[in-house]
Amino acid sequence: MNDAKLQTPAEADHSQIVSALIGALPDPVLVVDGNRRIIATNSGARILFTNATVGGALTLSVRAPDILDAVLRILDGGERECVLWSEPVPVERLFEVYVSAFTYEGYRAAVIEFRDLTEARRVERMRVDFIANASHELRTPLASLLGFIETLQGPAKDDTAAREQFLGIMRDQARRMTRLVDDLLSLSRIEQNEHVRPQTPVDLVAIVRHVVDTLAPVANEGGVELMVSTPKTAMIAGDRDELIRVAENLVENAIKYGAGGGSPQRVTVSVTESGGLTTLEVRDNGPGIPPEHLPRLTERFYRVDAPTSRAKGGTGLGLAIVKHIVSRHRGRLSVESTLGSGSTFRVTLKK
Ligand code: ADP
Repeated sequence: MNDAKLQTPAEADHSQIVSALIGALPDPVLVVDGNRRIIATNSGARILFTNATVGGALTLSVRAPDILDAVLRILDGGERECVLWSEPVPVERLFEVYVSAFTYEGYRAAVIEFRDLTEARRVERMRVDFIANASHELRTPLASLLGFIETLQGPAKDDTAAREQFLGIMRDQARRMTRLVDDLLSLSRIEQNEHVRPQTPVDLVAIVRHVVDTLAPVANEGGVELMVSTPKTAMIAGDRDELIRVAENLVENAIKYGAGGGSPQRVTVSVTESGGLTTLEVRDNGPGIPPEHLPRLTERFYRVDAPTSRAKGGTGLGLAIVKHIVSRHRGRLSVESTLGSGSTFRVTLKK
């Protein structure tokens, strides 16, 4: 038998074992003794409470009365508790705090564990907002359709002129609903595949030229000068249909929202290659976008001016779709805009 003294956990330095143990946990954890003095912290706890030091009083680091009261009850023999705690600064965060008893060699200590609920709450709020927004967007054209159907069945039954006019409006509303459902389905399909990066070699220049050819009549109709500047080819790994969608949305937006700025209205689409990156840029000389809106443009249903967007057939989902496609391609979408001189939407992709 080896006569070297075996160090059993009972003989080891308890605080070291406790520190090592909680150091392995992903959430912030503090352990306090019966006098509410901190006996161990992990790195998460030291980030959350910068003044939490071993040997210091818990009351000096954690200023939340609910947590301190729960610790007192636990040290008094109480059962495990969970309290909600929100930290308003520097950014509002919400935590679920578990306070449990921990007994060693007859001493009672308390373990305080902080689970960050901020992200989960944000995702949940986004989901609820999304359902409310999508329902609202569908309900408006539906209410209008129902109204016209009732009018056509009742007061306007025999009015041929009114019938023609109402049927035209009803067709537009039904198309609006179709566009919305199509965009919602595209968004959900792209999101489902977002973790799979497309690998097929595609020519971004051919894609851009195809989109420009398709949208040339729309630009023409609106009196918009559509200019293109590209190299001969620009091969990247991508999904052709999705990249067509990106270019289409950006060029369509530039045509739709670029009016009322510089005269003549001009949209420039360019593809450039440099240092392993390929950039698609769509620039308009329109009225531009106020800076406070820029960070939110890619949110679903976010519009700078909702009535204008709806009047132009917008669903408010175009840039959200662009963002998800670009993210699936591991690329970057950026927007620059100067009030009075136009906006530039830029998609940067790896070659
Ligand atoms: P929509 O279906 O409303 O066009 P998007 O997601 O494509 O939805 O765009 C969101 C909002 O961003 C638009 O409603 C518009 O207010 C603004 N926007 C997009 N592109 C431009 C642009 N080139 N110039 C000015 N505003 C723009």
